Amino acid sequence: MPTLNKIERSGILFVLSAPSGAGKTTLTTALRQKPDFVYAVSCTTRPPRPGEIDGEDYYFLGHDDFQARIAAGEFLEYAEVHGRFYGTLRSTVVDNLSKGVDVLIDIDTAGAASIRNCGDPVIAGALADVFIMPPGLDELARRLRRRGTESEEQIAMRLENAAAEMQHWHDYRYTLISGSMEEDIEKFRAVMRAERYLSRRLVIPGL
Ligand code: 5GP
Repeated sequence: MPTLNKIERSGILFVLSAPSGAGKTTLTTALRQKPDFVYAVSCTTRPPRPGEIDGEDYYFLGHDDFQARIAAGEFLEYAEVHGRFYGTLRSTVVDNLSKGVDVLIDIDTAGAASIRNCGDPVIAGALADVFIMPPGLDELARRLRRRGTESEEQIAMRLENAAAEMQHWHDYRYTLISGSMEEDIEKFRAVMRAERYLSRRLVIPGL
């Protein structure tokens, strides 16, 4: 019987989706304060919001640069959301997972669907997808207005998208109903802990 202090496991790809305004950015920012995973920074063609930092919140790219990277196959997935392009860099995800390092990505429901259906057995085995369900559309509208970064027209578009995105909750392994920020963090951490104990992810030498 080997001593069991050499347990290793494969990396987990935590995919987090939530309609905008559901508190996802606050949640990911809080989770990143105690990082026991790599947060894969996405690329986008949307302009930075006040306070957003290039390379930390997103890689802010021009439209042509983004299209060239699509053509070069640099994205694991990409999607057009709210009229802008967003994409996950393949290299960040694959390099970390192959080293057994967990990765967190924050993407829309279309992006999550393309990751689920990407046909790569390593990605499929690593996937743990989580949907953050807003407590209701009224509350979502209140949160978006409180944030104050979008025009009324953009808020209307985001609410319409949110209603459509909420239909996809059942495609996710986990659905967390959004409450206070502390509750959301605790629920998400519970999912992370459980996923890390999945037998099929563990490698126990000699057993
Ligand atoms: P925001 O503009 O509010 O930062 O993000 C808008 C939406 O784009 C959110 O639903 C967010 O999850 C999604 N998003 C951010 N990065 C990516 C990405 O790399 N791929 C996809 N498919 N969606 C993304």
